[in-house]
Amino acid sequence: MIYADLTADKLNGLKARLQAELDGFKKQNLALDMSRGKPSTAQLDLSMPMLEQKLNFKPDKIDYRNYGLPEGIPEARRLFAELLEVDFDEVIVLDGSSLNIMFDTVARAMLFGTYEGATPWSKCKTKFICCVPGYDRHFGICEVFGIEMISVDMTLNGPDMDKVEKLVSEDESIKGIWCVPKFSNPDGTTYSDDTVRRFAALKPKAKDFRIFWDNAYCVHELYDGEVALLNIFDECKKLGSEDMVYEFASTSKITFSGAGISVFVTSKANIAYAKKIMFYQTIGPNKVNQYMHYSYLPTVEKLRAHMREEAAIIRPKFEALIGALAPLRKEGLVAFTEPKGGYFVSIMVQKGCAKRVVELAKEAGVKLTGAGATYPYGKDPNDSNIRLAPTLPPVDEIAKVADILAICIRLASVEKQLSLIEA
Ligand code: PLP
Repeated sequence: MIYADLTADKLNGLKARLQAELDGFKKQNLALDMSRGKPSTAQLDLSMPMLEQKLNFKPDKIDYRNYGLPEGIPEARRLFAELLEVDFDEVIVLDGSSLNIMFDTVARAMLFGTYEGATPWSKCKTKFICCVPGYDRHFGICEVFGIEMISVDMTLNGPDMDKVEKLVSEDESIKGIWCVPKFSNPDGTTYSDDTVRRFAALKPKAKDFRIFWDNAYCVHELYDGEVALLNIFDECKKLGSEDMVYEFASTSKITFSGAGISVFVTSKANIAYAKKIMFYQTIGPNKVNQYMHYSYLPTVEKLRAHMREEAAIIRPKFEALIGALAPLRKEGLVAFTEPKGGYFVSIMVQKGCAKRVVELAKEAGVKLTGAGATYPYGKDPNDSNIRLAPTLPPVDEIAKVADILAICIRLASVEKQLSLIEA
């Protein structure tokens, strides 16, 4: 770290200079936001022609404007079965939010158990493994249901599988694990083949253990060419463990967020069990919306072509952000990997500096995701990780945010170094 050898005098001089630079930005009364992974207006505009389609409903067959088809329309199920390389019967297509399905899936397990005759999770001690850094809303689901969370660190190949294997094989109260296997939220990691195989081969002590495989970024490449993720169901089927996996995806970051369609993929046995309970929950999903989506993006090729247009909009934003942070990485002030897809750049600043960086940025008019949000209970043990979400702001704003962020990281690092000298 470049500041490690500087004297207190030098550090104080540097601090004053950085503070003055930041004060310059403060005077501009900025209101910039890089806190949530939302599509930009330009991305949303790409899907507007979907709303202008003339849809040919077939009242003589199954009328999609009417009740029914709780598992979703066959066209959309077929499309997602092809995209996710699973059987048609293993796919249910539902409404606008995959997070909603994840919540419902946990709720079903809490109330009814994960299979016929299983003890409901609410009637026993229930813990989940959370890969960290990870997605705050996964952790929120655990928190609201009172499920205890155990953190396992992410590596460049996915979660630390030695730890995952040990934990699930020894502790019967561990009932689930949250995974974002492709372009993970936040660090953009895609699980290696070995990691996926080890997941399929898990031997959990809890017979009702489930892997929550949130494939939210399954087609969200930033660059041409597909980043491959091994199909976990193929691996599970070789071992007979496919009941262990619940997969989720949605079009929230393909068409319209919260107004797209979402997908639940699992074994035929799990689908049958879920449907039995869902029968009481709904008469059917919004099939008009499903048909509208299918009509607009009827094939995997069309969907991928659409995603290339999305990527063309957001790629320069990622590159602007990463380009601005690269010098700080060389100086040892920040560590990060460059994502090849997904919605985030996850940075590690000096231990004990993340909260301060977020606070300094806020003072300068830049809203970042709260430090700690990427860890269970909002507590990053190292106070080091910050999730950056570059998709929403225009590219010139990203450049400005990156400049401010760089100053904040430098300033927080200098302050930290000074505190170490004083201690
Ligand atoms: N899963 C992950 C990993 C996400 O990052 C997000 C949104 O940021 C979601 C799920 C939300 O998905 P949906 O809009 O389908 O509820």
